[in-house]
Amino acid sequence: MNKLLNNPDKEISQLLSILGQSARVQIVFIIAEQEACVCHLEALLDIRQARISQHLMALRKAGFVTTRRDGRHVYYRLAKPELIHFLLQAAEILQITTESLQKLSSRTETNCTCPRCKPELDAKTVCRPNSPIIKN
Ligand SMILES: [Zn+2]
Repeated sequence: MNKLLNNPDKEISQLLSILGQSARVQIVFIIAEQEACVCHLEALLDIRQARISQHLMALRKAGFVTTRRDGRHVYYRLAKPELIHFLLQAAEILQITTESLQKLSSRTETNCTCPRCKPELDAKTVCRPNSPIIKN
């Protein structure tokens, strides 16, 4: 994140605006639990990949997420684990129940073919959420 010296109010506002989209809040909850590739997030959020990539780029540019490449998959994880505590605090302020929060992080996805969801598939399997499995 760009450091705006002597402007803590602006820095905090900037953080809030980067997190200020529901898809980004969902992404942070999901990857806080376990790193995920773009196609996994696409399957879970049901948002097209180009849009997910834009969100991830914004979060990455801010230094909130970091990546790890494994073969043809790039995995995203939280670079600042404090972010999840921050969102949990926000949930507490809003008196959101633990039960509703769990729905955000502990989702299961059946239509995803990423190595995390379908470890039995070989490494050449292309991750294509919500579509038949395609092999090269
Ligand atoms: Zn997956």
